[in-house]
Amino acid sequence: MGIQRRHFLQRTGGLALAALMQARPVEAAEERFCTPNDPLQALIAGNRRFAEAWRQAEQDEGTTHRTADPDPRCFNSPKALATSQHPWATVLTCSDSRVSPSWVFDTTPGELFVIRNAGNSAFDEAMASVEYGVSVLKTPLLMVMGHSGCGAVTAAMDANPLTPSLDRLIQPIRKNINGSSDLEEAVKRNALASASTLIQRSAVLADAKASGALKLVVGYFQLSSGVVTLIE
Ligand SMILES: [Zn+2]
Repeated sequence: MGIQRRHFLQRTGGLALAALMQARPVEAAEERFCTPNDPLQALIAGNRRFAEAWRQAEQDEGTTHRTADPDPRCFNSPKALATSQHPWATVLTCSDSRVSPSWVFDTTPGELFVIRNAGNSAFDEAMASVEYGVSVLKTPLLMVMGHSGCGAVTAAMDANPLTPSLDRLIQPIRKNINGSSDLEEAVKRNALASASTLIQRSAVLADAKASGALKLVVGYFQLSSGVVTLIE
């Protein structure tokens, strides 16, 4: 990991991940969740840490020698991001709190254009946002990603009554999974179907794919291992 990048991650939320990775192994029974007493205060405090790292990253620019950086991966400067963005992938995935693409793919601000909804459905608003990522921001890669233990897909497999809004959200998933009773299989079917819907219903995306300007892949994120497997 490059020096700038590592420093930035250590100063921001990456701090939590770095701590997690350096922590001594915990007992299997020691399962913990972060539940702040005051959630709004926790958001504000987290943003202050991020903003401080952001300010520091901008200050460091020009003083850090990127040529000495053995990591070829990109790190966008805050100064550049203040006026523009050039993300290199569009990701359509689930709203699940454990599935944040920035974490899953170890990226920093400005790298991913992300669209999320419960169940990673390709309904109209999601499709419009994907089109923006591909046709305006020109991301060369589009990933649709489902994940293990998906609550939205689980709800689509159940017959339990939902609120009217949730029922509308679940309908396309129910159709996509086509009666599957295995959650992993259903999640994969749903992600594959979302990807197909994007190409079938969006001429912009279909053209970009056909011309080779866009590569479309479908991923499955396994929560227990942290690994994303390409299924298409
Ligand atoms: Zn989910």
